[in-house]
This record gives sequence, C-alpha cells and structure tokens, in this order.
Amino acid sequence: MSENKTLEIYQSMGICEEVYSYGNRILGSLAERFAAIDANAEYNQLKVLKAMQECQVSEACLLGTTGYGYNDIGRDALEAVYAKVFHTEDALVRPQITCGTHALALALMSNLRPGDELFSPVGKPYDTLEEVIGIRPSKGSLAEYGITYRQVDLLPDGSFDYENIKKNINKKTKLVTIQRSKGYQTRPTLSVDRIGELIHFIKEIKPDVICMVDNCYGEFVETKEPSDVGADMVVGSLIKNPGGGLAPIGGYIAGKKECVENAAYRLTSPGLGKEVGASLGILTNFYQGFFLAPTVTAGALKGAVFAANIYEKLGFAVVPDGTESRHDIIQAVTFGNAEGVIAFCEGIQAAAPVDSHVTPEPWDMPGYDAKVIMAAGAFVSGSSIELSADGPIKPPFAVYFQGGLTWQHAKFGILKSLQSLVDKGLISKEFLK
Ligand SMILES: *Cc1c(COP(=O)(O)O)cnc(C)c1O
Repeated sequence: MSENKTLEIYQSMGICEEVYSYGNRILGSLAERFAAIDANAEYNQLKVLKAMQECQVSEACLLGTTGYGYNDIGRDALEAVYAKVFHTEDALVRPQITCGTHALALALMSNLRPGDELFSPVGKPYDTLEEVIGIRPSKGSLAEYGITYRQVDLLPDGSFDYENIKKNINKKTKLVTIQRSKGYQTRPTLSVDRIGELIHFIKEIKPDVICMVDNCYGEFVETKEPSDVGADMVVGSLIKNPGGGLAPIGGYIAGKKECVENAAYRLTSPGLGKEVGASLGILTNFYQGFFLAPTVTAGALKGAVFAANIYEKLGFAVVPDGTESRHDIIQAVTFGNAEGVIAFCEGIQAAAPVDSHVTPEPWDMPGYDAKVIMAAGAFVSGSSIELSADGPIKPPFAVYFQGGLTWQHAKFGILKSLQSLVDKGLISKEFLK
C-alpha cells in the first residue's frame, strides 16, 4: 500500500501533512525500543497462556453463575490463573470489586485493625486513596477506625529516604503501601527491581509487616511483577492493563493466602469469603482480556514512548523522558498552562472510536481535590487501558496520557493531540520541520 494512501486517510481525519511527517520522523528513531517492547510482550503472552493451560481452563469455565455463586468453577479457575501469573498463593478477581480504588481500599481495610498503622515510604498515594486513608477526612476512612498513617516522601532525586523510612517503622506498623506508578504526580515510576530493594530493606527491619503494592498501570510492562520480589499483595484494576480492554468492570488482589482471605471476608462476609460471588456472564471477558493484556499493554507502551519523544523534542517536560526505561504505561507531559492541557485532551477525545464528536471539559470529579479534565471515548466507560488522557487543572498543568487498545490507535491519538495544539496556535508548525 502506498504511503500516499495512508497520508490521505490521515488528512481526511484532520491530521495535516506537517504533523504526520513529524510523527513519522520520530517513529523512525524508535525501532529498537519497539522491538524490546515486543520481546517483553512475547514472554508475558506465554506466561499467561501457560497459566491458563496449567489451570486447565475449559469451555465450562466461561459460563458463569447466578445467585450465590457457589461452586463457580470459572471464577475459581480464573483466580488460580491470576495466582499463577503473579506467582502468589491466592488471588481474588471479581466483578464485585468495582474499581482500582475499591480493590485498594478492600486490601487495606481487610488487613488492618484498629490500633495498626499504615505506612507509605514512597510519598503521597494516589488522590482517591487520600479519603480511604483519611488524609482528607471521609466517612468510613481508615482514620475513623483508629488506623493511623505515616508517610515518608521520596528524596528530591527520586531515591528512597532510607534513613527516615527506618525511623518511621515502629511496633504499630502493620502494612506498608507502595505505589508502583506515578499516578497524578511527576515523580518517576518505580521499577519492579527498585520495589524489591525497598521491600527487602523494610523486611529486614520488620519481617512480619505486610507489603502491598498498588500495581495499577504496571501489569505486564516488565517480565516480573512486584509479587516476584517480595510483595505480599499486589492490587489493581481490571479496566486498566490486566483487563486487556475487554473486562467491563473489576479489580484483583493477588498475594499471600491470608491477605487474600482477609480481603474476601471483607468483600463478601466473614465466613463466606471466596465461596460466594456469582460471576454472572462476565468470565469470557475476564479470561479473554487477561489473555490479550500482554499485547494490549505493549501497544499502550509504544504509544507512551512515542508521545514522550513527540513532545520532548518540542521542548515540553515529559516524564518519563524519551529514552528512559518504562515501568508503567503512563506518560506525563507538562504544558505549564490550562490551555495546553485542555487542547491535548480535546485531541485525544477527537481520536476516539466512541464519542469522538463531544468536547471534554474540566469537572469536579469525586475523590479529587481539583477540577480534572478527562478525555475518554472508550468502549468501557472510564477505561484507561483504552486511549485516554486526564489532567488535574492545577500547577504544574501536566497531562497524563495512557492506553490505546492497539498501537495504531495510540499513534493516531497522539497525532490528534498534537494537531489540536497546532490548530489552537499553542505550537507553531515551524517547530515541526
Ligand atoms: C487508577 C489508579 C488507582 C485507582 O483506580 P480507579 O480504578 O480509578 O479507582 C489507584 N492507584 C493508581 C496508581 C492508579 O493509577
């Protein structure tokens, strides 16, 4: 097929020749990075397939149950598959876990008791967890149940503040929460190896402390997961990486048997635990999504690397930078003003398969402390493994871009975002030459 024909369809979808050519020049420099991402996906694809085969996933597993959901073989086998992939004793993977925040709240609330202390050695956790913990007061927070909280920030260069971490671990410290991804911050994302070093340090001081990792956006980005380097629990959302774009809801907790059991008793009821919870008709999506997750994550990663290089060369601050190794699928681009954030998100929205004709606007989203603009025209509402971008309207006015169910779609979305900035006069075409 001729290059011309491709340019033509891009042009018919609002991309000018300068933006298209600029994108392709950037792409030309990324062959090695992309090959490494593909090699990683190949390994993870086999890891998931092997787990499914070893657990003897059968056609009957895809059917699902109603009512109490006793003896739901598909649900139980899926949880066994997750446990195998994460190399953990057990897992809880449920549509009744409504989102990532719920999964994290569940893991925390079920494994902490009044008088215990929760500790974050990697700074402030994800915005929505502030109300879960009670950093911002909220009904039913851990603070209301007499669970205290401490945090030690990362040092300015992004390294762990080992001295203060040691000082803040005390006899009340029961659970340590480590967020892998940067979330809405511009700090670096933690590699699995760095998480391993941190857990090792903490366990030397207090061996029986539970180390939990918020694994959101990190699954399948590397060939190892935090549970391979000592985490007692890894927690995440199925409308991010491990759902592969097909899971319409859900969250997971994989980890030590006792941690998972505590979570199951809290999710359903003491005494019932994992035995109940009908899977309804959702299991095919969960299985097939998990099966596709390694390659979907790879496409999203390519999009993130592409976006970093596109915007870095235009002079914007990007985290991670264009050459850094990746540990999650999020790309932060700092525009320094609200107009840039809004234009970027409008471009991403215009690239969507669903709702491309609507214009996103900043709004007061529950759980966040500033207005947030979100671009998402997704098949699954709010899914951020699908092409999406969001940015809190507050300094430093950074936008967080992620997802894309296919690399080709991620590429188009990024070019649309750039086109939107060009069309609004925020970037001059001169710079694209
Ligand atoms: C998305 C995310 C969460 C919360 O997940 P929701 O599904 O949005 O509730 C928590 N932590 C991190 C790092 C995340 O990226």
